[in-house]
Amino acid sequence: METKFIFITGGVVSSLGKGLGSAALGALLQSRGYDVRLCKLDPYLNVDPGTMSPFQHGEVFVTDDGAETDLDLGHYERFTGKPATQSDNVTTGRIYTEVLAKERRGDYLGATVQVIPHVTDEIKDFIREKDGTADFVLCEIGGTVGDIESLPFIEALRQFGNEMGRERALFLHVTLLPYIPAAGELKTKPTQHSVKELMGMGIRPRILLCRADREVPEEELKKIALFCNIDEEKVIPALDASSIYEVPLTYHKVGLDTQVLDAFGMTDAPAPDLEKWEKIVRRINNPESEVTIAVVGKYTNLNDSYKSLNEALTHGGIANKVKVHIKFVEASLFDSSNDDIAHALDGVNGILVPGAFGNRGAAGMIKAIKYAREKKIPYFGICFGMQMAIVEAARNLCGIENATSSEFTDEGEHIVGLMTEWVKDNAKETRGNDDDLGGTMRLGAFPAALAIGSKVAEIYGSEEILERHRHRYEVNINYKDKLEEVGLMMSGTSPDGTLPEICERQDHPWFIGVQYHPELKSKPFDPHPLFVSFIKAAIEQGRLV
Ligand code: GLN
Repeated sequence: METKFIFITGGVVSSLGKGLGSAALGALLQSRGYDVRLCKLDPYLNVDPGTMSPFQHGEVFVTDDGAETDLDLGHYERFTGKPATQSDNVTTGRIYTEVLAKERRGDYLGATVQVIPHVTDEIKDFIREKDGTADFVLCEIGGTVGDIESLPFIEALRQFGNEMGRERALFLHVTLLPYIPAAGELKTKPTQHSVKELMGMGIRPRILLCRADREVPEEELKKIALFCNIDEEKVIPALDASSIYEVPLTYHKVGLDTQVLDAFGMTDAPAPDLEKWEKIVRRINNPESEVTIAVVGKYTNLNDSYKSLNEALTHGGIANKVKVHIKFVEASLFDSSNDDIAHALDGVNGILVPGAFGNRGAAGMIKAIKYAREKKIPYFGICFGMQMAIVEAARNLCGIENATSSEFTDEGEHIVGLMTEWVKDNAKETRGNDDDLGGTMRLGAFPAALAIGSKVAEIYGSEEILERHRHRYEVNINYKDKLEEVGLMMSGTSPDGTLPEICERQDHPWFIGVQYHPELKSKPFDPHPLFVSFIKAAIEQGRLV
């Protein structure tokens, strides 16, 4: 079938769950047997989100091919099971970089380079290159309609929509119906204004997904349809769901996928098979018990900064039929040498130190790791969490008191140091101290070889794995023997044996550190084996206390 394009815009406010809505719609179309592809257009000027603070923008999602992308791509992967790639995410910064490179090369043959047509053409090219790659291409536009930044994108989509025609391009607008307690009503005016804004830019949405925190009265939906010039059945109320994995089911119930297909005139589409979603939701709603995992991190006051991690822990819970409570512990509160972290970790069934950058919080994390090691509480260290587990062992068990990472200081003994070269796709990549920060880490999927007989080899059921990386520093392999003497085994390395990838303790119920980000590959239907095993160990720990 000819590829059909669905463009998802947002109005009224940000954080409406556009990404989740797009992912859910993708899953629904997939459940009817269609091949889908999801991509995201981000209007900010950063070339990619790699240099953005997790406090501002949430997690950076890394793809197999090494792109640092928006966290919505994580939703897309988790909902459709399809690995995202570099070519699924673009920003204004990247578009301009391309346009300016072309201008310098002289590709525009002396033309005055302008937003229309040069920037808009570049955006259209990004979308058009997806033609033929799937039955449906869903394209989410970041930000809120009316933002200055998104104007070139909206204009490009208007042109693209005209070129494709109604049979192949559809605009779906997500809005909010706020509830005003004093009036006791859900208000439709912001939605009307937002649609008007979009129409003023030449785009007529044919489907409206109206987010609301309560039932939307029929007459309000009719009113929106009338004022916004949209078919009544295509004004769809979208209520909050109890879990994100319930969203495909709730959106199906209100007719989202049916109306999308109807808009394309696809009235004889196959019925959806939603069995796997029903099963997941049943499991989530009926846990047999519960565990509490402490996540000792430094971006703990923004939930989105650990998006994939939170989901991967949930997946581990689904696989073990338990509810996972996450207790965020702000590591930096325990950095000073007088603070004791024991109180904050009291009663938890597992401790996890996630990825992080910089010194702040490191001392608190090291305390948490020591506590987990000594009290035999399951410990999972991810990236920075592995590096700090190594520093903890070096300091407290090997007696190297000044053991540290060169990320923090030039002084001391650098057990963790700046990586200067590694192999990617058979070619050597080299980095120096003064290189740019953006896009220069060890990024994307790399293979690792696991030691025969190790706990990780047993958990993976394999001795060769492929996992996603995003880091600049690495444990120095020359400390392998010293660390193994104190029980911290290097149970996984890069295939050439030079870069430590995994450490584990065999004298502990569950103590594993990994240099990569397993959370990025976990899916509700295909939970990551390390998370399944970690949660299982946490359940066992819970039985002991
Ligand atoms: N800051 C560390 C490094 O760059 C760890 C990175 C991470 O946890 N993702 O190596």
